[in-house]
Amino acid sequence: LSKMRLLKIMLVGLDNAGKTTFIKWLRSNLNGTPGQNLNTVPTVGYNMEKFVKNNFQYQIYDMSGQSKYREMWNNYCKEIVGIIFVIDSTDYLRFQVVANEVELLLEQEDIKNRPVPILFLANKSDMQGAIATESMKEMLKLSVITDRKWEIFQTNSLKGANIENGFQWLTSSII
Ligand code: GDP
Repeated sequence: LSKMRLLKIMLVGLDNAGKTTFIKWLRSNLNGTPGQNLNTVPTVGYNMEKFVKNNFQYQIYDMSGQSKYREMWNNYCKEIVGIIFVIDSTDYLRFQVVANEVELLLEQEDIKNRPVPILFLANKSDMQGAIATESMKEMLKLSVITDRKWEIFQTNSLKGANIENGFQWLTSSII
């Protein structure tokens, strides 16, 4: 285990976006090498999910309760090498709130100064009324992000659709 590179990843997104569902899918599907099961390490302010995949050790920090714990973010930002931002594709009424969250996130000291890649998950893509990724990119003004790699993947966290592809993109963008 010690030879594997440790990748600390921050999981963010508004409430109801599907973060918990995403974590649940990871827990039941990506538990890598037998015997090295995922485990949740609950702490005040965040949950951390660990797993091994493709010779990497991942630690996913679920930063739920964002504004409440925002002050805590910086404690974890330093070691973060990637960000997963989960968005409810059907919740276009809150896209402006999402856009503001993205902006705030990118202003965090230890993220602003490092080209940490961001994987946007256009989640709940299976639902009626899900906004297409091209429209989401525009509505969320993602093209203003020019100082780092970012990509958007349509996902269904209930079924795990496209999550592997997203992970692959994120991992290869970190290295
Ligand atoms: P969180 O607040 O970000 O942790 O959101 P949850 O993971 O609790 O998800 C909120 C609700 O959306 C739950 O009822 C989930 O079952 C549902 N949900 C999450 N992801 C998906 C998805 O990809 N498709 C569909 N149809 N429902 C989803």
